[in-house]
Order: sequence, then structure tokens, then C-alpha cells
Amino acid sequence: MSVQKVVVLGGGESGVGAALLAQAKGFDVFLSDRGALKESYRTALQTAGISFEEGQHSEDRILDASEVIKSPGIPSTVPLVQKLREQGTPVISEIEFAARYTKARLIGITGSNGKTTTTLLTYHLLKTAGFNVGLAGNVGDSFAEQVIADTFDYFVLELSSFQLDDMYDTHLDVMVLLNITPDHLDRYGYSFQNYVDSKFRILQNARPDDDFIYFNESQPILDELAKRNPAVNRLPISLQTPVEEGGCLTNGTLITKTKEHSISVSQAETPLRGPHNAINMLAAILAAQSVGASNDAILAGLKTFQNAAHRLEPAGTVSGIQFINDSKATNVDSVYYALSSMDAPTIWIAGGQDKGNDYSQLDEVVRQKVKALICLGVDNHKLVDYFGNTISTIYETQRVSDAVAKGLEMGQPGDIVLLSPACASFDLFKNYEDRGNQFKAAVKNLMISDK
Ligand code: ADP
Repeated sequence: MSVQKVVVLGGGESGVGAALLAQAKGFDVFLSDRGALKESYRTALQTAGISFEEGQHSEDRILDASEVIKSPGIPSTVPLVQKLREQGTPVISEIEFAARYTKARLIGITGSNGKTTTTLLTYHLLKTAGFNVGLAGNVGDSFAEQVIADTFDYFVLELSSFQLDDMYDTHLDVMVLLNITPDHLDRYGYSFQNYVDSKFRILQNARPDDDFIYFNESQPILDELAKRNPAVNRLPISLQTPVEEGGCLTNGTLITKTKEHSISVSQAETPLRGPHNAINMLAAILAAQSVGASNDAILAGLKTFQNAAHRLEPAGTVSGIQFINDSKATNVDSVYYALSSMDAPTIWIAGGQDKGNDYSQLDEVVRQKVKALICLGVDNHKLVDYFGNTISTIYETQRVSDAVAKGLEMGQPGDIVLLSPACASFDLFKNYEDRGNQFKAAVKNLMISDK
């Protein structure tokens, strides 16, 4: 039999990892990226002797593949992918490909918001509990590359909807669905249902004994569960009512109950603030319990967790005014939770590239918490128009240093200045990390001049 030809589209972390795994498994591999590769990835491919191209897609060679592994960044609507599908060539994600070659049990985590926090926390809880566990998916190192050696017993996988779209047979032992709110609709034909369907692919290979952990107050999740009624062990999470099995927040205490375990811990004793993080923590605890982590280990792990940067990250205090960096909040729902987590009058810095935002979800919380709005974007008219009647003080700028200085000027001791943009960053910044880092640097400058 001739060697199967695997083509990898996209030469980022996941694509290069997939190419290396495919090579290790004896396939004839070709990687194609329409843009330029990062130097380190180019070297990795050259060292492994994998053929690749940059700056173009050689259609003939790609259409000749037996199977194509597509980067989640490439929409399935591009003509090349359409052609592959029309001629019946399987197009899969790196996760789907790598999952074929691992013996590890898989914990998959998805949702519109909270994926990274919950994935990192689940990984941390299992690691501190002594599990031999890896971290992959939308965060950290390529899953496929880690599967070459396949040394882990468990993987915690952060799964975006784009990754789920190209997954078919992967069996996840534990599934987490945190929420579904409008996002990325440009990739889903502007149909929310298409996006919901994509998120529900997390359940597509569920078995009746597998645990499915989900937020029970997300209406789209409830509607869809009612329609599909999947055969799986449900562990719902609630912020409003106690649960018989699952997780809840009662009077500031996180409580989880499964058939084997129950745990309760005050949220004040954990490093994560806000109702959204209560959901994330409950999900991570339940996932850790699901694979057998002990209560003591979970409690210890919760106390030592440090979240990734740019998610409600304290950036410093100047003249009694606290600055908080939530640059990762690129949609309205994440801002809703950020503002809900604020316990003092808040000067809110928002704006950037609008993804079709509907701000009405924020009406109430803005009235309760926000004393001034600083718009940080090229085009701020939508924010200004929407909040012009609710927020009495609105200031516009395109410079972070100016936004931060203005926040300080408007604030009083005890106030909070919160960067939580509700928008993508690409109008003024390289990415959300760049925006958050510039914010933190500007606050540091203020701290120095305040001394
Ligand atoms: P993701 O990986 O899904 O983007 P992150 O953990 O990186 O999620 O958080 C992204 C943004 O969403 C941050 O601003 C964070 O404060 C906010 N967020 C985190 N968890 C939730 C949640 N469960 N619901 C809504 N917003 C959340």
C-alpha cells in the first residue's frame, strides 16, 4: 500500500505539531501556509525533514492529500477547503488527529468565555494532586507534538468552537461547557444556532457514564439540552440554587457534590474573584473530582492557583486608586462579569474593534458600577452613542498612557480603573496581550511618578 499523504494547512503551533506527529507516524507530510512561518517553526520543520511551503498554497499538491489537518484559524468557507470537502477529502483538526494516537484520558473544556481560566485551573488542580497530566488545545504547547512521546495519563484540552468544528470521532472522558454567548458569528454565517451547534459538538461522542459539566443558567445551553437530551451524566453548575449533583455558589461558598465526593470552600479563600470565576472554579473542581482527585489536593491547589495575565489582573494602585487589566475581555458577556465583580465605583476603559456588540446586557451593571467611561479605540461612536445617556462622563482617546492618566485624574481613593474593552484590539494594538501590557506599563509609570 502506498504511504498516505497528510497535508497540514497552517504552520502555527498546532499545525507544526501535527506535521511532526504525522511524520513520526510514518505519513508522507506536506505543510502549507499562505503567510510566513515563525522562524522557530521553520527550523523545527527543516530539522525534521518535513517539506513545506510559505506564502502560497499549491493547490494540486493539497488536493492530492488523503487527509488534511486544518488550522482553526482558517475558515472552512475558503475556496480551497470547500474544494477539499467537495471532492470528499477528510478535513480534520489537530486535536482530532492527535487524539487517535494517545492512550491518555481527555478532559475537554469549551465555552464562549472562561476556557483558558478553567483549563489552566483544572490542569493545576490535577498536577498539584500528583496526576501525570498534560495541557493542550487552544492554550500552551501543541497537543499533537506532546502525543509523539505520549507520556501523560491525562490531558486537559481547551477547545475553541473552531477546533470542535473539525472534530468527529474524538472521545472526551469529561466534558465542560461553560456558557454560550454570541461571539465569532462572522465565522458561523451570522447564525447563533450554528455557533451553538458547534459548541455542542463537545458532546458528540459522549457515553452515558461520562461526566458533562455545564452552567445551568445559560439559556442557550438549557434550550439545546432540552432539544437533544444527550445520554450522559449531567453535573450542572448554578449560581442561584443548590444542586443535588453538580456545583453551586451559596452565600459565597463554592459547593460541589458528585456521587463520590463533596467539597465546600469559601470563594474568599481562593485567588479568583467574581461570579464568572465561581462558575469556572466549580467546573474545574468537578472535572478534577470526576477523574478522582482528592478533596485535600483540590483545596490545596485552589489556594496556589495563579491565573494567566490579562484576566481581571491587578495592575497596581496609584493614590489609592486600583487599576485592573482585563484586556482579554473581548466580548460583552466577559465585560458583564468583570463589572459585576467590581466592589467600588469604577472608571471603565472600553473600546476597540467592535464585533457587532449588543451592549444592552450591560445596562443595569453600568448604572450600578460605572462612574465614567474612557473610550480607547479608533472608532468610538457606538460606545458613545449607546452610553451617552447613562454615563455622565465620557472621554475619548487613542493612547493608553492618556487613558490611564485620565483614569487617575477622574478617580478618588477607593475607586477602580478597569480596562475591560468588550472589543478586539486590532485597531490600535497587535493583540490583546499587547493592549494589556501597554496598560500595565502605563500604570507602572504612574506608580513611579507617584513615589
Ligand atoms: P477564553 O479562553 O474562553 O477566552 P478566558 O479565561 O481567557 O476565556 O477569559 C476571557 C475573558 O472572559 C476574561 O476577560 C475573563 O475575565 C472573562 N471570563 C472568564 N470566565 C468567564 C465566564 N465563565 N463567563 C463570562 N466571562 C468570563
